Amino acid sequence: MTGEWGGPKRELRGNLHIHTTCSDGSRTLEEIAGLAQGYGLDFIGLNDHFAPSRPSRYQGGVLLLLGSELNREHSHYLVYGPAPAFGPGQHEGAKVAAGVKARGGMGIIAHPFEKGSPLVGKGKHYPWRDWNSEDFQGIEIWNLTSQWRDSARSLGQSLGQWLLAPYRPFKQGACPQALARWDELSQKRHVTGIAGSDLHGPLVRALGCRFRILDYPMLLPALNTYCRAAVTGEGEEDGARVIEALIRGRCWIAQDRLCLGRGFFFWAETERARRGMGEKIPRVGGKAWLRIVLPRRGEIRLIHNGALLSRLEGRRWDLAVTEAGPYRVEVRLRDVPWLYSNSLYLE
Ligand SMILES: [Zn+2]
Ligand SMILES: [Zn+2]
Repeated sequence: MTGEWGGPKRELRGNLHIHTTCSDGSRTLEEIAGLAQGYGLDFIGLNDHFAPSRPSRYQGGVLLLLGSELNREHSHYLVYGPAPAFGPGQHEGAKVAAGVKARGGMGIIAHPFEKGSPLVGKGKHYPWRDWNSEDFQGIEIWNLTSQWRDSARSLGQSLGQWLLAPYRPFKQGACPQALARWDELSQKRHVTGIAGSDLHGPLVRALGCRFRILDYPMLLPALNTYCRAAVTGEGEEDGARVIEALIRGRCWIAQDRLCLGRGFFFWAETERARRGMGEKIPRVGGKAWLRIVLPRRGEIRLIHNGALLSRLEGRRWDLAVTEAGPYRVEVRLRDVPWLYSNSLYLE
């Protein structure tokens, strides 16, 4: 398949921010890779706490990005690719981000505005605190587990929700504060938005039984990050290419529970150039064309400089824009957030 801005690229669907039994997850890497293969995922991102950085590899056709999650008390940081070793403790977020970037890895702020729940760990939560750093390359705009937990306010309410409507918190979509901060950052430099499952599949004891909540089979197919990369079949090389695509922002997020996000395109064109997500394009004659193609019809919202510029119900949208700055797309299906693009930048 040819990518929208040249070169043969494949569309890859992946689930990011997964914990295994190597840290505080409840399933083994082998089990998780097997499940991921069954759900048709092309790659998964493993983020056991303080795991050393290791080369990517394939297991059963699924590319494993063997990353880690750094920091303990706050400023949790997801890392993929080469990274310095940070001990199992609390480090300054800005220092961690600078170290990872200097080594060529990708660093992503995890659950930046987590609020916590009075039902879990006495409301303990782990927001990001080092916004003065300019070295992080990505931000988790949607963390499924963290946002589910944030929604659990009392035992009765959360038990009822779990039994009757376990997917209800997914309907709110990305974290509003994370989206607002992401839009603010995008007006200064490119920062990639990704989705994280934060999968642990915790074992809970209640009513005399032990069972898993927010388990791997529930979250792996629910919310994914898609990218386009020219893969070769060799694990280490392909891992580097996927990480590069994520750093550059050649990716989008889809709530696959509603509909798979495969076949989404968003690019900008002038008479002289054509550029995709994560890229800059100079206007010609004071304007450029934006092209949006969806796998199915939905309510398309075009966001410019963090504000809603225009919306359209449809499957394809071509429109001319004149203002400089970052543009991104959100799509809703029956008023539920489904798809989020990364930004492209008009100059
Ligand atoms: Zn965390
Ligand atoms: Zn985590």
